Amino acid sequence: MKRVLLSIAIVAGLLIGCQDEDTKNNDLSQQEAIDMSDFYVQTEELSARSTDGTGGKCQSMKVLNRQLKENPGLYKKMYDIEYNTRKFIAGKKGGNGNGNGGGNNGGGDGGGTPVTDNLGIINIPVYVHVVYSNSNENISDAQISSQMRVLNDDFRMQNSDANNTPAEFAGVAADSEITFTLAGTFRYADSRTSWGTNDAVKSAYPPVTPQTHLNIWVCNIGGGILGYAQFPGGNLATDGVVCAPQYFGTTGFVQAPFNGGRTMTHEVGHYLNLRHIWGDGRCRQDDFVSDTPSSDRPNYGCPTYPTAHCRSNDMTMNYMDYTDDACMSLFTEGQKARMRAVFQPGAARASILN
Ligand SMILES: [Zn+2]
Repeated sequence: MKRVLLSIAIVAGLLIGCQDEDTKNNDLSQQEAIDMSDFYVQTEELSARSTDGTGGKCQSMKVLNRQLKENPGLYKKMYDIEYNTRKFIAGKKGGNGNGNGGGNNGGGDGGGTPVTDNLGIINIPVYVHVVYSNSNENISDAQISSQMRVLNDDFRMQNSDANNTPAEFAGVAADSEITFTLAGTFRYADSRTSWGTNDAVKSAYPPVTPQTHLNIWVCNIGGGILGYAQFPGGNLATDGVVCAPQYFGTTGFVQAPFNGGRTMTHEVGHYLNLRHIWGDGRCRQDDFVSDTPSSDRPNYGCPTYPTAHCRSNDMTMNYMDYTDDACMSLFTEGQKARMRAVFQPGAARASILN
């Protein structure tokens, strides 16, 4: 009994000490709840799959793999961003941030319960760089507008496909309350016909104020690759999203089945710190979102529901899977929380709000 009382006294002392350092309520218990043991940025497995032609749709993880090797500080940066993301979610989950001390919010990662913050609708200004070697690739303003419309509809859950989300998943579908405004278009004629995934297009045509704007390069990538994005924490000189012109927007020089503008929805998801929904690994490798089911692979085409892997139904219609544009319809509440975490004060993309 004495020992118990002593323990309580120590805990109380710790809590009081913590209050002195940081006035946020429950800060100590939140930190204890943040489990980082599952954090990883290993991307070798997907890279291996990509070479046989089955994983080529999005090259973001392969690009990240290269950047981690080139930039020794990037892993630590991404770890810190992940820690702060989990801390934000743990602190805000299911409440208004005042912390009543009596709630049991369960696990530390995102999902299930909507997260509240004070940021309201977050608007991201966008610069589009059109880099073309022929007239088809010099896409029209109408094609660019059509892409902006899809981004806004998908991130605000206003697209008609949202009605196609199966009942099993409809409850966690989220309006991320993120919007996009076209701030300017730049056009560059260049004799180069394909740009690969080594950020060459960004060296040739550098991003414009990437601290405050999402930069998008529309150019032929080659190799059947639709697009790639840079995660938060990477070098500003290469920050943004690259997309091939035939997978950008819904009208003009577009090619089915990726003519629904959802390559960009997916890539902007990465830009805002979302992982692939299957976690780029086997069943136990996670996308750090608790309201998306485990899977051990991407899905392709337009799978019938239910499609099950890892003893649960895959959310094949999630924007972070690899399915056809017409068969995608949602981000989840947990994904919304992850994306909004990078806009919190001091976080990796907070400067966009200024
Ligand atoms: Zn991807």
